[in-house]
Amino acid sequence: MCAHCRKDLPGSYSGTLCLACRTQLVPLEAPFCLRCADISPLRHGVCASCQGEKFACRLIRAAFLYRGPIHSWVYSFKYRGRFPAAQEAGRLMARHWARFRELPAPEILVPVPLHFRRENERGYNQAEILAGAISKETGIPVLNPLIRVRKTKPQWELDKKDRKQNIAGAFKVARPGDILGRKLVLIDDVCTTGFSLEACALELKRSGAVDVCAYAFAREV
Ligand SMILES: [Zn+2]
Ligand SMILES: [Zn+2]
Repeated sequence: MCAHCRKDLPGSYSGTLCLACRTQLVPLEAPFCLRCADISPLRHGVCASCQGEKFACRLIRAAFLYRGPIHSWVYSFKYRGRFPAAQEAGRLMARHWARFRELPAPEILVPVPLHFRRENERGYNQAEILAGAISKETGIPVLNPLIRVRKTKPQWELDKKDRKQNIAGAFKVARPGDILGRKLVLIDDVCTTGFSLEACALELKRSGAVDVCAYAFAREV
């Protein structure tokens, strides 16, 4: 069954969406913010929130815009446990990666840990499945270096300022030696504000990673 329009699909077809829904996916395409890939109004190539700011996460890219049938696709692996849908998304991400020459091939893929998105705790991490599928296509290894060292409140309960406070120092890199001097790309399903990505990137850079970028399946804009 198509995850979006619910149309029955032939048994031999293993895709998440039917072909009609699939053609409605919107790839992320220029012009977008050179830093965070937002498509809000740009000045000198960057959006208002990236203007003049420094980020630990140097670059964010995504395969698609978070629009139309992709909502159903993400929902199917985020809340309905459809692992094959996440694997297919990861394979697509690997294919679309080539469109972004500014996103370098990293030495390590790092899935955003589940505890960065508390609203979503249910025992498996969809970002890890995405990273695993990308790794299978590209041969780039996956590592899970981030661990939680103290409890945090759910981010959605807090306003922007308190969010930063809430998450500061809550995570550590377990074995900094593994990422020391390495170039990393964080993998996530949907990038909304980029805040979790930045929190991850800060920790990773503090622990010695030389470059941290991020790549998501979909970008909310
Ligand atoms: Zn459909
Ligand atoms: Zn931006």
